[in-house]
Amino acid sequence: MQKVVIITGASRGIGAATAKLLARHGYAVCVNYLSHSDAANQVVAEIKGSGGKAIAIQADVSHEQQVIALFEQAEQALGKITHLVNNVGILFTQSRLADMSLERFQNVMNANVTSCFLCCREAAKRFESGNAIVNVSSAASRSGAPFEYVDYAASKGAMDSLTKGLSLELAEQNIRVNGVRPGCIYTDIHADGGEPDRVERLRSKIPLKRGGTVANAIAWLLSDEASYVTGSFIDLAGGN
Ligand code: NAP
Repeated sequence: MQKVVIITGASRGIGAATAKLLARHGYAVCVNYLSHSDAANQVVAEIKGSGGKAIAIQADVSHEQQVIALFEQAEQALGKITHLVNNVGILFTQSRLADMSLERFQNVMNANVTSCFLCCREAAKRFESGNAIVNVSSAASRSGAPFEYVDYAASKGAMDSLTKGLSLELAEQNIRVNGVRPGCIYTDIHADGGEPDRVERLRSKIPLKRGGTVANAIAWLLSDEASYVTGSFIDLAGGN
């Protein structure tokens, strides 16, 4: 049976790497993006160039109607959705909590948590035995990211709770829900936080002394090799 995955925020960074890897593993891939259509189309072109199946679909996944439309369009184009990677995540310039605006806090919560809730809900309605979800959280859910992004860390903590709870709701149906918690990964997100070279600055504080990758762990958690794993989290933080 054809495996069909929706990956939110797959035009760049971890999402794009995961899209290309899952396509190599035989998934038909829906590359969701917000505004960078060129980057999304490039990911799709690369997958198709290697003989894979993919489509790019624009949708702001923090909006209910756009998420519903995303699932419907992806299903029409690729067939029944069998897997979901909730990868979208944003953060803003490093700041103490005392200096954060309510608008910023709510934007982070909407982009990171509401999107995860909405996409999980659409998946939970549709998924069948053997299907799986991976939520991309962060090591920040454990550290709290003080003086930098407490709002972001709190959003990732909420994702972890949602992951655990949904995994228990869906376990009897043999639908698995897991999370990954990356540490320092080389992507554009650090520039959005005001520090493009963040991974380099923090290298010395990472036990393995380098940044890492995430796509392989996501692919494993989605796969039948992880068929007895649910409600679990893989920390990909170089020892932190
Ligand atoms: P990134 O390079 O900044 O890419 C973000 C992606 O999300 C882009 O594809 C962007 O689309 C999309 N996006 C943002 N808001 C969206 C929305 N509302 N609807 C649909 N798509 C949206 O991010 P990344 O570093 O790969 O991070 C991916 C995930 O890993 C996030 O959840 C992040 O919190 C987590 N993470 C990353 C690190 C790290 O070191 N990079 C560490 C821990 C956790 P456009 O291209 O159209 O803008």
